[in-house]
Amino acid sequence: MDWTPSSWTSANAVQMPDYPDAAALNAATDTLASFPPLVFAGEARALTQELAKVARGEAFLLQGGDCAESFAEHSANNIRDTFRVLLQMAVVLTFASKLPTVKVGRMAGQFAKPRSAGTETIDGVELPSYRGDIVNDIAFTPEARIPDPQRLLRAYSQSAATLNLLRSFAQGGYANLHQVHKWTLDFMGRSPWADKFANVADRIGEALDFMEACGINPDTVPQLKRTDFYTSHEALLLPYEQALTRQDSLTGDWYDTSAHMLWIGDRTRFEGSAHVEFLRGIGNPIGMKCGPTLEPDALLKLLDTLNPGRTPGRITLITRYGHDKIEDGLPKLVRAVKREGHPVVWSCDPMHGNVVKAANGYKTRPFERILAEVRGFFAVHRAEGTHAGGIHAEMTGQNVTECTGGMIDIGEHDLADRYHTHCDPRLNAGQSLELAFLLAEMLND
Ligand code: PEP
Ligand code: MN
Repeated sequence: MDWTPSSWTSANAVQMPDYPDAAALNAATDTLASFPPLVFAGEARALTQELAKVARGEAFLLQGGDCAESFAEHSANNIRDTFRVLLQMAVVLTFASKLPTVKVGRMAGQFAKPRSAGTETIDGVELPSYRGDIVNDIAFTPEARIPDPQRLLRAYSQSAATLNLLRSFAQGGYANLHQVHKWTLDFMGRSPWADKFANVADRIGEALDFMEACGINPDTVPQLKRTDFYTSHEALLLPYEQALTRQDSLTGDWYDTSAHMLWIGDRTRFEGSAHVEFLRGIGNPIGMKCGPTLEPDALLKLLDTLNPGRTPGRITLITRYGHDKIEDGLPKLVRAVKREGHPVVWSCDPMHGNVVKAANGYKTRPFERILAEVRGFFAVHRAEGTHAGGIHAEMTGQNVTECTGGMIDIGEHDLADRYHTHCDPRLNAGQSLELAFLLAEMLND
């Protein structure tokens, strides 16, 4: 195939910053290219295998984390808390579906953001948009918004440190199943919805007690003591992704070693796009966001480009329609993909089609709309006879107030309390776990 790590540069590159100093950008990407890879190709292949199980209906995918990681919020506690909630969600989902849950963080590299508008205007002052900490600074000043190539190196270092901690948590005993369930019980003890979900939580506890009585516990069974946890981000800033793309010494294939899985955003997933050109050549599993403007023919063409060999697990289609559009829009995509026999994972992003502006100006997402989109997703796949394979959420382990609703019922007037996101509003720890319990109910329907 006529592809190189830089062949994207002759395609149509949108959503990328203009660096004022090309020499400085080249120096930064040369440095990055000399740095070690963050992940190993064998791990990316292992994730493809896991996702192939999801595509066959034998597993469930849970992908989640920040909309945008930031330099300011980089701390062990933030990483630990998001990781912890993802594991708690995974236990609930695994118990309900009786299928393994593949866990993928939007973590350790989720820095670059596409923007609907290239500029932002506040009080009559117009400045270039903030494009994520890997590009420029969120402060609303002309200097802060200038793209700075040194940020690529800082994003790499932060990703390496985050990944290191995630690996230690996942493999070092912190993530053992009994521990994860204890966190859920502690959390529920403090929640108004404890009663509603007590039944599921009690049954998980009983299953664990029973296994323990039979001598199956984290001391004797490695599967209970540690877990596999993968990383992912949107492959948006292609100079960064290219610098971390390496040829695997075992297979000779190219892998983007910045994360296990990379996805293409809804704004960059068109035929002829530089992002599609870049991603088609790497061996990692690839996600693609599918919004309301994607027609079945265009989707099939993209699938032929990205997965000509029809490798199961290579492609995850992450649909993001909006609660009121999914039941009309999704069936035609599902039918086309099924008819052509493309083996894909269908995952639901119930976040990006459900953004609203609160009266006080905050960008938010009502929990009930998020839930309604997930219900619509399950309903469509049930009707079409396909596997509703996964969920893709913007969430955090922190107790933020960014999405309204949920059983703790955050109102619009509460949004100002703890609104910390650098980009889109995230589910907080309680809302995330609540979503997992509600999903569990849907999986059992
Ligand atoms: C995102 O996942 O943060 C994002 C920008 O999504 P989309 O491309 O679906 O708009
Ligand atoms: Mn987002």
